[in-house]
Amino acid sequence: MAWIALEGMRFHAYHGVYDAEKALGTEYLVDVYVKAGIAKAAATDQVDQTVNYEVIFRICQMEMEQPRHLIETVLAGIIARMKHQFASLQAIRVRVRKLHPPLGGRVEQAWVEEDADFVASCPRCKKKHICYGDQTCWCKEANLHPATKETLIRQFGTTCLCESCVKLYAG
Ligand SMILES: [Zn+2]
Ligand SMILES: [Zn+2]
Repeated sequence: MAWIALEGMRFHAYHGVYDAEKALGTEYLVDVYVKAGIAKAAATDQVDQTVNYEVIFRICQMEMEQPRHLIETVLAGIIARMKHQFASLQAIRVRVRKLHPPLGGRVEQAWVEEDADFVASCPRCKKKHICYGDQTCWCKEANLHPATKETLIRQFGTTCLCESCVKLYAG
């Protein structure tokens, strides 16, 4: 497992609640750290097997171009897109830094950081697997009968089973 990072992606964006920020925009730096399984990519030397820098950059660019009131919303948008794009994502950390925020004095930067860990342990076989723990999780698409789902929740709680265990119950 390895961390892959893109640091200091610079954008001029129009986030914020103040009129000046919305009209003139502010300079931002975005840092993304991604933990993913890269064994297959290293063995094959193929870029499509790993988390691709260009895709990370484009995801950040798309979210930065969308003006938001809060940096927190920008962070959530980047994380949601990254999860959707890279199925091998084990953990992610995203930091958005606003340079020289207009606070009436000299301030270098203000930043907000969010991190999320998607490695969970399957409640049936105890194997580690990727689970987002919310409605966006891959397991929500598993073809399970409603009655089977209820039995699983009674037996294992709402924690997701791993892919091979889900397959045992899918019809
Ligand atoms: Zn399992
Ligand atoms: Zn899940």
